[in-house]
Amino acid sequence: GSVFSNIVRAPEDPILGVTVAYNKDTSPIKLNLGVGAYRTEEGKPLVLNVVRRAEQLLVNDPSRVKEYLPIVGLAEFNKLSAKLIFGADSPAIQENRVATVQGLSGTGSLRIGAEFLARHYYQHTIYIPVPTWGNHPKIFTIAGLSVKTYRYYDPETRGLDFKGLLEDLGAAPTGAIVLLHACAHNPTGVDPTLEQWEQIRQLMRSKGLLPFFDSAYQGFASGSLDADAQSVRMFVADGGECLAAQSYAKNMGLYGERVGALSIVCKAADVASRVESQLKLVIRPMYSNPPIHGASIVATILKDSDMYNEWTLELKAMADRIISMRQLLFDTLRDRGTPGDWSHIIKQIGMFTFTGLNTEQVAFMTKEYHIYMTSDGRISMAGLSSRTVPHLADAIHAAVT
Ligand code: PMP
Repeated sequence: GSVFSNIVRAPEDPILGVTVAYNKDTSPIKLNLGVGAYRTEEGKPLVLNVVRRAEQLLVNDPSRVKEYLPIVGLAEFNKLSAKLIFGADSPAIQENRVATVQGLSGTGSLRIGAEFLARHYYQHTIYIPVPTWGNHPKIFTIAGLSVKTYRYYDPETRGLDFKGLLEDLGAAPTGAIVLLHACAHNPTGVDPTLEQWEQIRQLMRSKGLLPFFDSAYQGFASGSLDADAQSVRMFVADGGECLAAQSYAKNMGLYGERVGALSIVCKAADVASRVESQLKLVIRPMYSNPPIHGASIVATILKDSDMYNEWTLELKAMADRIISMRQLLFDTLRDRGTPGDWSHIIKQIGMFTFTGLNTEQVAFMTKEYHIYMTSDGRISMAGLSSRTVPHLADAIHAAVT
């Protein structure tokens, strides 16, 4: 017998498992709204033109080698990534108070931050919103942090439970870590307003809570890189400390390249330098050093003003297409006379709509309409096109009537 014969089968990942099921479906009308990856109006994955240009430059550069990167990754990439999220004029950057390391996209960057906090921060409790991206509790738990939750979404209003959020963070122990979605909250598409962010900031600073931003959608929510970083920049502007995990999966379409960054904003340059030295000890035994290709693409684009501008235009076009899909789905449901208030579809922002459909309704839509989504009723707006919206509207209409 095998020494592994008593291993029990693990469940599919609740998000990636949707694609596994979708791939098995042979229906020509099948539609995958489970995974958050951008699709064109033709339903195809998109490689940005500016990314192709950057790759051409890299391929044609004779000085390019495939040596190992340093443990912390590509230095130029790290600098430019910090500038992108904190702003070019950020005093924290100018004062060398930011330690930035390259990470394996958003997930890997969150994991490095979590491991660092578990080793070096006195508070091991991290508060995450309800609901949140399904990988958050797993990443933080496995790193050795203790996960607690704060209220975030109100199913009644399909909006923010701001009162609940303030109550729960107000009751958190001093120094607790708080995971905040920088923008385009996943899965709800519900973000605090700037006024609400300011109140959250004041409460967190008054209680010494440590902000850990997850920025997986900068530029994807509004189409503006600066607007989508406002929440993070408010917390950096007050001179306090915070962590930020960035992903280039969505905003540069670099999903499979696994390119991201973790920044820790400190109060002084010497602290940041010691923090960086410890981040290296976290990274080295996990994967030694990060991959070179994706980070080189990002650095090539961010350092060249012409390519940077082209990127912002392509990013805006992706964001605008998603916003137009929201409007189209809303209009189509209204024209069908589908019962219920669907205005949250156009109020929510970012890649996803939290439809409010329940598990049974989702199962019905998958069985009868071959539409795949997570069982919490989250649909990826980026996976829709004007051709597929009517089919989705038919399914929603049938599911709720
Ligand atoms: N955080 C959130 C909220 C996300 O939605 C995602 C992507 N689904 C990530 C982090 C990380 O994704 P990746 O590791 O592909 O950058």
